[in-house]
Amino acid sequence: MSKYEVIIGLEIHVQAKTESKVFCSCKNSFGAPSNSSVCPICLGHPGVLPVVNREAIHQIVKAGLMTDSDIARYSKFDRKSYFYPDQPKNYQITQFDLPFCANGKIPIGGKGLSGEMIEPRDIGMERIHLEEDVGKSVHYSGSHSTVDYNRAGVPLLETVSMPQMHSADEAYAYVQSLQQIMRFGGISDCDQEKGQFRCDVNISLHKPGTPFGTKIEIKNLNSTRHIWLSINHEIERQTEILDDLEGTGPNGEDGKLPDQETRRWNDARGETVVMRIKETADDYRYFPEPDLPPVVLTDAQIDAFKAEMPMPPKAYREKFVNEFKITEYDAHVLTLDKSTADFFLAAGSKVKKPKAVANIMMNQLNALLSDGEKSLDETKLEPDHLVQMVKLVEANKIQKNAYAKLLPILMEEGGDVEKIAEAKGMIVELDTGALEAWVDEAIANNPKAVAEYKEGKQNAIQFLMGQVMRASKGKAAAPMVIPMLKKKLS
Ligand SMILES: [Zn+2]
Repeated sequence: MSKYEVIIGLEIHVQAKTESKVFCSCKNSFGAPSNSSVCPICLGHPGVLPVVNREAIHQIVKAGLMTDSDIARYSKFDRKSYFYPDQPKNYQITQFDLPFCANGKIPIGGKGLSGEMIEPRDIGMERIHLEEDVGKSVHYSGSHSTVDYNRAGVPLLETVSMPQMHSADEAYAYVQSLQQIMRFGGISDCDQEKGQFRCDVNISLHKPGTPFGTKIEIKNLNSTRHIWLSINHEIERQTEILDDLEGTGPNGEDGKLPDQETRRWNDARGETVVMRIKETADDYRYFPEPDLPPVVLTDAQIDAFKAEMPMPPKAYREKFVNEFKITEYDAHVLTLDKSTADFFLAAGSKVKKPKAVANIMMNQLNALLSDGEKSLDETKLEPDHLVQMVKLVEANKIQKNAYAKLLPILMEEGGDVEKIAEAKGMIVELDTGALEAWVDEAIANNPKAVAEYKEGKQNAIQFLMGQVMRASKGKAAAPMVIPMLKKKLS
């Protein structure tokens, strides 16, 4: 255990999925030719008027509802002034004091990237506000730079967490959970390679019981792995600085407090490096946006949004744990993506013991999907296939070990489970006469095991059971074999 407590807060920008941009009617599309999706509004020409996109408001309210946030009945936009080539207006339209959403919660749990289990709890989310994305500068080394304004005006949800995470694993779990919520809600695909999910980390270390340490910001992280790595590196780096300050660090006595600075992750070097030193707090000078009226939402409108809100990942997990009786951890794994969660929901609702379906999905199916590097959607497997498989096992028509043989066929070709099981000789022999013949054969051929069993070695019966299964080429109904063996040997 380190003697310092780590305090982490995350600011994450999520691009919302909408047809058009947030304040003009240009298409919100990624990958179009440079500067092809622009107009006088998103290029900041003088004299134009922005109009807020209702779909963007719907998306942010949905994000708020799915994170248990308070939704503002009265919200307004502000201008954040700064000069940079990617923002031709010299200000960004954002929200300062009256954001759409406040006091949300992001549940964390599951396993961290280190493989350690994370204690399930909620991390507070201070706010979500709506703003416009800026253009994208492209730098050609040594010669020139260009700016592509296709991204300028894409709706951006800025989410600000409370400083309540204490490790890289917890930050990882928060990021994963926020992405799930956005994806389940159809709010954003959170495709990091397309810049749809960008994270800034605030991190400081202090001794418990003393004031918070110097806050270091790590900017522009667009990979979950980089977020995790950069936090771990910062913990190491700041620990060393604080140890030096006490005279116990590797550099002896010349310690000083960490500089208040903004850093970025250098993946090639595997460390964070200084971007700029902060001398004072950022002073962006916010002004109320005079060209956009405040947004007023009525209770009826919010109720309507609520009524059509997709089920958040947490609600799936609660249903799986409370009604389907599976473990917290299994529920976490089965809700990592929406198609898996919906699949399990559909299959689990149709069987007596959903745990049996969960086991197949967590074990055999997961292994096959990761071997084939496929997602569930890319196969022909349907929830009903698992329902049929489980029901056939419950009826003693196939054995559990048939799952591993049936799944690859169903994933590749689909089809009727029972017919495939018949064609492949997987149907179990239930005829007691046939079973008895195999059991008698196993007893006759294995006098040593029989003697051992009679001396009280319970394991011997498992061996005899194996012999019965071998003689029957796997067709003997396993649940019937042991009682029959026991009866014959008593
Ligand atoms: Zn435009």
